[in-house]
Amino acid sequence: MKIFLETFGCQMNEYDSELIRSILRSQQHTFVDNLDHAEVALLNTCAIRENAHEKIYYRLDELRGRKRRQKKLVVGVLGCMAQNLRQELAEHAPIVDIVAGPDSYKRLPLLIDAVLGKGEKGFDFSLSEYETYSDIAPQRQAGVNAWIAIMRGCDNFCTFCVVPYTRGRERSREPKNIVAEVHRIAAEGFRQVTLLGQNVNSYRFEQHDFADLMEMVAAVEGIRRVRFTSPHPKDFPRKLLRAMAANPKLCKHIHLPLQSGSDSVLDRMGRTYTKKEYLDLVDEIRTIIPEVSLTTDVICGFCGETDTDFEETLEVVRRVEFDSAFMFKYSQRKQTIAERKFEDDVPEEVKTRRLMRLIDLQREISKQRNTVEVGKIHDVLVEEPSKKNPHEWLGRTDQYKGVVFFDESAKPGDFVQVRINAAGTNTLRGTIERPSWRRLPVMAAAADCCQN
Ligand code: SF4
Repeated sequence: MKIFLETFGCQMNEYDSELIRSILRSQQHTFVDNLDHAEVALLNTCAIRENAHEKIYYRLDELRGRKRRQKKLVVGVLGCMAQNLRQELAEHAPIVDIVAGPDSYKRLPLLIDAVLGKGEKGFDFSLSEYETYSDIAPQRQAGVNAWIAIMRGCDNFCTFCVVPYTRGRERSREPKNIVAEVHRIAAEGFRQVTLLGQNVNSYRFEQHDFADLMEMVAAVEGIRRVRFTSPHPKDFPRKLLRAMAANPKLCKHIHLPLQSGSDSVLDRMGRTYTKKEYLDLVDEIRTIIPEVSLTTDVICGFCGETDTDFEETLEVVRRVEFDSAFMFKYSQRKQTIAERKFEDDVPEEVKTRRLMRLIDLQREISKQRNTVEVGKIHDVLVEEPSKKNPHEWLGRTDQYKGVVFFDESAKPGDFVQVRINAAGTNTLRGTIERPSWRRLPVMAAAADCCQN
């Protein structure tokens, strides 16, 4: 069958789509980029926020019209929203033929066959305690960075979060298997690996913890940078900080979700750390890795959040000076503890007002943090042409800051040295540092990689 697969949401979903491609290709299905040529339309969905759901329902509306014209089109909803809203989808979305959760991808060929062969609906939402898809080699598009899921699920049950219900219990992949995948992607030409997990610092396989795994991955020849997302502030291993400080391949960037700066809100969120513990951790990170960049997630307007609670969040944001932040209004998710226990009682206009204040503050801080970079020289990994001007390149510093620059001889995957000469809120601008001998060691290392 010709399959059109569309991915919504986070990097974990992107990674899952790479797994789905591999599973279906192994059964002789092919993939098309244009829905007009598809016999099966699959949406790999996200459930994390209200607008993610809205996007998918909007897409299903479009597919409803298409299915009227193309009766045999098979429509499937996969991933977190499929798991979270399975009943609703099964009952209220008659155009949907397949609903499969994040642990059911290996059954997709059977589900497609059941729809085509017997005209049955193909629903599977079983969650597994063991499935890590370790035996599947994801089918990646060629590029600079490869995502690798090192674990699946989450046991934290933060009260606002749907992930433990959609992705099940936490389980870690065997390091040997992860390292073998890293060797494969290095041989394919990827220069950077980002290790993915809902809570990477609780990674554990037999005697190996996350810091051990980072070192093992960094030791793979051809891989020049290793990143990870996301850790939980409650149990950040000091061993990992020391490894990051000592090993130049481990990038000096930590995404450390704050969510709120108020102890009472953190308590209701079930985050299991206090404002003080978070700030102490930030101080320790900056002592051990002075050049680190810190980014975060913040939710505005969680159940019961008062003006004073919100002021405390602003105070933490001011005190930490994050390099950037993902900031959201709280939206209640079905199945979560917060839905059962608390009232979503902060009026929408208050949530919006708080979010705007937070965004304004963070923009100011991001600009200041970026301005400090002006005049410095950074090793930049070239990623892709700049969206605003395709004659320029977008690359990233070790600290994950985007840099736009011009270099006629650069190409994705190269490392270049760039002198920063201007700073915006989201990106830096720079010029290639001359003389070009500064790039020679990088070129030599790149040649080494090709011998893998
Ligand atoms: S750590 Fe909390 S927010 Fe993150 S995935 Fe797990 S439950 Fe959700």
